[in-house]
Amino acid sequence: MFEKLLIANRGEIALRIQRACRELGIKTVVVHSEADREAKYVRLADESVCIGPAPATASYLNMPAIISAAEVTDAEAIHPGYGFLAENADFADRVEKSGFVFVGPRPDSIRLMGDKVSAKHAMIEAGVPVVPGSDGALPDDPQEIQRIAREVGYPVIIKAAGGGGGRGMRVVHTEAALLTAVAMTRSEAGAAFNNPEVYLEKFLENPRHIEIQVLADGVRNAVWLGERDCSMQRRHQKVIEEAPAPGIPRKLIERIGERCADACRKIQYRGAGTFEFLYENGEFYFIEMNTRIQVEHPVTELITGIDLVQQQILIAAGEKFTLRQRDIVFKGHAIECRVNAEDPERFVPCPGRITNWHAPGGPGVRVDSHIFNGYFVPPNYDSMIAKIITYGDTRDQALARMRIALSETAVDGIQTNIPLHRELLADARFIEGGTSIHYLEEKLSQRH
Ligand code: ADP
Repeated sequence: MFEKLLIANRGEIALRIQRACRELGIKTVVVHSEADREAKYVRLADESVCIGPAPATASYLNMPAIISAAEVTDAEAIHPGYGFLAENADFADRVEKSGFVFVGPRPDSIRLMGDKVSAKHAMIEAGVPVVPGSDGALPDDPQEIQRIAREVGYPVIIKAAGGGGGRGMRVVHTEAALLTAVAMTRSEAGAAFNNPEVYLEKFLENPRHIEIQVLADGVRNAVWLGERDCSMQRRHQKVIEEAPAPGIPRKLIERIGERCADACRKIQYRGAGTFEFLYENGEFYFIEMNTRIQVEHPVTELITGIDLVQQQILIAAGEKFTLRQRDIVFKGHAIECRVNAEDPERFVPCPGRITNWHAPGGPGVRVDSHIFNGYFVPPNYDSMIAKIITYGDTRDQALARMRIALSETAVDGIQTNIPLHRELLADARFIEGGTSIHYLEEKLSQRH
């Protein structure tokens, strides 16, 4: 096992990784920007290194500074968390070439999945169902593009091979709009992702977002740890997640879970990963794979009892992978609300000093957060400040506990989206379960 691990991230996930390390008896080094100097997890770490000023490009995205920090502190491994450099294959490459262990998949797996065209191809080969669409990148010939779109059937969505974070996509309803949309997506993709390749797929009108968590040892062992329903989204950002997904037959989940584990074996995937699907009319359609730990991982931890971050570290350290599919037993229901420092009406970030923070507690309540009384939420980063996760024997119990948890939570000094969460936890359609990815935006558009 490693003696010392460097955490190349910030906020709640830096604290989450630190907790996993402490439990495993691993010393931690945390890197931080000047803006995060006062963070509690920085003081709790065995060592800390300031890697630059507040802007992420100068600190959390600064590869040489992070690698030097690992060198001067004698860390053996680097955990990238999520966001920042977590899915940057060049970073993973540089980490390994500098003699450290990257806690994540091999760089070639990150690269394969980072390009949506090659990812989709790999999934087709592994027998994972994908959204019907063009076979690879779109050609230049306009008539050929029109032919493909006609064959797939309108509406279609044009997507950049290098896209991410909900950017580089355009929905097209009629042939008249097709070629302009392709040209615009291409030029945006060239500028934003340095890769003008685009592809086309059927636009699903009312799907749910269902994802499958996997763990694999990079050789031949792979298991799937159930699904998460992340359909409650605003602008492609997840707001509430839960596991299991309400109303989907277990047989269907088992079948898709097996396919994902198989795909991992085929590509010799290593570590934790997530296969994201759109789900409509009883069918799953792969959209992308995330090659890292995800924000919503706690809901899976609560229903399986498996610590995903520890598993990532054990796999990276080359410990024997002993988990078998039959060991993975699902029990109960878990829900996560992402608490953001933002205006609950207009959704603009709302950084500033927290004058009072009272976290909820009690049976079945977990709070993953780095904030404290007097903490200053810097304006430079993502606005998520806490995750409130509740567990219950049933979905109703998890929902009831979440309502109580939200009623107990107090954050003063800044605005948060807790009022939105309270509203959603009282929403009849959400309580019923199984809303589509458009539900939240439709609900918000009826507000005014
Ligand atoms: P990103 O990497 O930018 O998150 P994804 O491929 O995961 O891109 O897609 C992001 C979101 O866009 C999905 O969660 C879904 O809401 C929407 N989307 C993507 N592809 C389709 C599709 N074929 N039909 C309908 N919606 C889609």
